[in-house]
Amino acid sequence: MMHPKVMVVEDEEALSELLKYNLVAEGYEVEIIDRGDDAVLRLRETVPDLLLLDWMLPGLSGIELCRRVRMRKETQALPIIMLTARSEESERIRGLSTGADDFVVKPFSVPELMARIKAMLRRSNPNKVSSRLKAGDIEIDKELHRTHRNGREVRLGPTEYKLLEFLMSAPGRVFSREQLLDGVWGRNNYVDERTVDVHIGRLRRSIIRGKEKDPIRTVRGLGYSLNDKFLKA
Ligand code: CA
Repeated sequence: MMHPKVMVVEDEEALSELLKYNLVAEGYEVEIIDRGDDAVLRLRETVPDLLLLDWMLPGLSGIELCRRVRMRKETQALPIIMLTARSEESERIRGLSTGADDFVVKPFSVPELMARIKAMLRRSNPNKVSSRLKAGDIEIDKELHRTHRNGREVRLGPTEYKLLEFLMSAPGRVFSREQLLDGVWGRNNYVDERTVDVHIGRLRRSIIRGKEKDPIRTVRGLGYSLNDKFLKA
C-alpha cells in the first residue's frame, strides 16, 4: 500500500506524461513539476523518495536545482536521476560532480529507466519504503502502530488506526465508502457502508483536539479523503 514517491521535473509535457503513465503503472506516486524554480519551492514542502530531473528547465536549470537539493539537509541524500540530451554529453561530468546519482541520456528506453529507478530506490534507503507516514502534523508509525499529532500520542482503536493509515497512504485522494471497506475491513466484509461513517466519526473525535484542523474531508456523495488543504497548512 505504501507507494514510493517520485518527483519528475520536466518541461516537455509529452515526456512527463509518458513518465507519469509508466511510473504510476509501476506503483509509484508521481508528481510532475515543469519548472526548476517551482521544484525548489515544492521540495521545501515535501521530500519525495526520488527525483527525476531534466537538465534543461525553465526557471532554474536542472544542474542548479541539483546543487540546491544537495545543499539542504532535508534533501541531501535524495536520490537524483538526471535526464540529458545527447548534445549535453560533455556536461554530464559536471553533473556528476554536482551530485546527481545517475544519468539517463535522451531518448531513453522507458523499461531501462524504470529498472534504474527501482534499483536506486532499493539501494538508497530500504527503510524509506518504510514504517513512517507523515501528513501535516500527523505522523504514524506503521510498525509500532502508533499515531502522533503535534507531538502528542493519539490513541486509536484498531479500525480507526487502519482507516487513518489507509487515508494517509494517498493524501488528497477521495476514497468511496466501498473502497474504504475493501481496504480497511477487507474484501470479504459483510459490513454496512454506514459503518465507515461511524468509524470516521470516532477517528475525528480521537485525533482533533481543541482548535486543531479536521484532517478528514467529507466529500458529499463520494466518500472521504485526507484533507489536502490541511496538508498545506
Ligand atoms: Ca527540458
